[in-house]
Amino acid sequence: MLETVIISGCLLGENCRYDGKSQINKMVLNLSYKYLVKSICPEILGGLPTPRPACEISYGDGADVLDGLSRVIQETGYKDVTESFISGAGRVLKAIEGSEIKFAIMKERSPSCGVKWIYRQGQLVKGAGVTTAALLKSGIRVFSEENILEVENDRSAAGFSFDGYLLAGGITVFSESE
Ligand code: SF4
Repeated sequence: MLETVIISGCLLGENCRYDGKSQINKMVLNLSYKYLVKSICPEILGGLPTPRPACEISYGDGADVLDGLSRVIQETGYKDVTESFISGAGRVLKAIEGSEIKFAIMKERSPSCGVKWIYRQGQLVKGAGVTTAALLKSGIRVFSEENILEVENDRSAAGFSFDGYLLAGGITVFSESE
């Protein structure tokens, strides 16, 4: 049976980014031949529209937002959208509750999905996005499109074989209505 992975929707070609575009990544897309793929966009799940103003975490990273120590602020208009980001992360966790999902591939540098990096005042700083922090807290292994080659080593080490390579997987999309 194929293992299931959750992936940031914009990496799979969904036009869910703040600018209404996708960030399609062929290496990530190819994983749908090896895994069952569940596509998620935490910001859409949190009720934000597309397009929308870009956002930044004001202090620390996503873990600090979850702990109530930091806020997520829109760059244009300075609206506080912390609750939408926390709600989106919560809905992602809810969507995978009780499942066998053990790993995720998330869009690097996003305030929701960033894995090692996020932006603050236009500069890259180390840290995870809000949903990535929530996934890590739940014990999910999280990779980004920038370290995709580490995925199979990691899954092999976890005892998974890839005999299912020739079987096409499928993509399931969680939308804001689920
Ligand atoms: S929240 Fe994540 S999935 Fe949605 S557009 Fe941003 S990076 Fe992509």
